[in-house]
Amino acid sequence: MPEGCPVCGQRYEPEPGFYWGAMYITFAFSTAIMLVVGFLVYFLLHDPDTWVYVSAVAFFAVILTPLSLRYSRTLMLYLFGGVRYQPERANRSASGATTSS
Ligand SMILES: [Zn+2]
Repeated sequence: MPEGCPVCGQRYEPEPGFYWGAMYITFAFSTAIMLVVGFLVYFLLHDPDTWVYVSAVAFFAVILTPLSLRYSRTLMLYLFGGVRYQPERANRSASGATTSS
């Protein structure tokens, strides 16, 4: 993870250990993934053997881990880091980059 945004310079780690809380958001994402995959397997495959549930849930939990990690950190920044999207800053930085190059 980079230290700051390359466009606006926003620091991605407001304080040391800031992302401890993101771990709990990841837990919530993982639980949601497991529930959704479990229900999909149940309804689409008409209640197969247990190993099918375990395999499908494990597969999707592992495959979606990078997404889950990034979105939980982003949510953490937005909810508790005081970060807000400011399009005028992005536009000014982008135009400044084009004029300087
Ligand atoms: Zn930025």
